[in-house]
Amino acid sequence: MEPFVLQNQTYFLIESWIKQHPGLIAGITTKNGGNSKGCFENLNLGFHVGDTQVDVCSNRTKVAELIQFPLNNWVGAEQTHDIFIKKVTKADCGRGSDSYDHSFKGTDGFYTNEKDILLTLCFADCVPLFFIAPDKHMIGAAHAGWKGTVHGIARKMIEAWGSEGINPKQIFIAIGPSICQKCYIVDDYVINIVQNTLEDIDKKPYNLISDGQYSLNLKEVNRLLLLRAGVPAQNILMTDYCSSCDHKEFFSHRRDQGRTGRMLSFIGWKESTNRL
Ligand SMILES: [Zn+2]
Repeated sequence: MEPFVLQNQTYFLIESWIKQHPGLIAGITTKNGGNSKGCFENLNLGFHVGDTQVDVCSNRTKVAELIQFPLNNWVGAEQTHDIFIKKVTKADCGRGSDSYDHSFKGTDGFYTNEKDILLTLCFADCVPLFFIAPDKHMIGAAHAGWKGTVHGIARKMIEAWGSEGINPKQIFIAIGPSICQKCYIVDDYVINIVQNTLEDIDKKPYNLISDGQYSLNLKEVNRLLLLRAGVPAQNILMTDYCSSCDHKEFFSHRRDQGRTGRMLSFIGWKESTNRL
């Protein structure tokens, strides 16, 4: 069953998680319902892509209202396709929420066990990873393009949580809307690195389609690396949505030839919904 369920034109939620965990909000926006113009039509949530600050802030305010999580409580990252992940606390709230300049530099993932902080990251083809360890009230998010994926950002989160006393078997993961295997064509350079990363895997998540050209399933690479890190298969949800194929819902960096907007992944615990 598809884990990401459209709530209205503006965002998807990971519905089974929301039902299981009172107070949790987790999902990803679409490209619909905002004010941006031109190639950013119309719910662009990325500051760094050439859109106007005014339109991006207005779009962010709209999402904050829809998901009922104040913009002042969001955190955002620069996202450099590296694997640095940052534990955030309430003191960090607001950083990167209303401008790119104040976002966390050189950061591609966040985690926290505190309430009232929304972990946000921007996407247009790269793989959004959502993490939760309900026993420890821990949540996390990571941005996994091919570089972050093969350099092990998923494993890095599992290891960071290990040092917080969390066993991989306690961790649940959702792999979100991103570019599908059919749409993601890469060259020998990328495939050689993927091959080295997955040398122990028999069924490789890529196919040769023409001389030096391969179609790569980046969602599946992340799933395989999570299994290797000790996360049980039944703990991992994976979407069928593709940012490129599903053109009515998503921005795609590849499909739109680099001039496009960004969707926003989000995960947070709401303060106002304390369990009785
Ligand atoms: Zn596709």
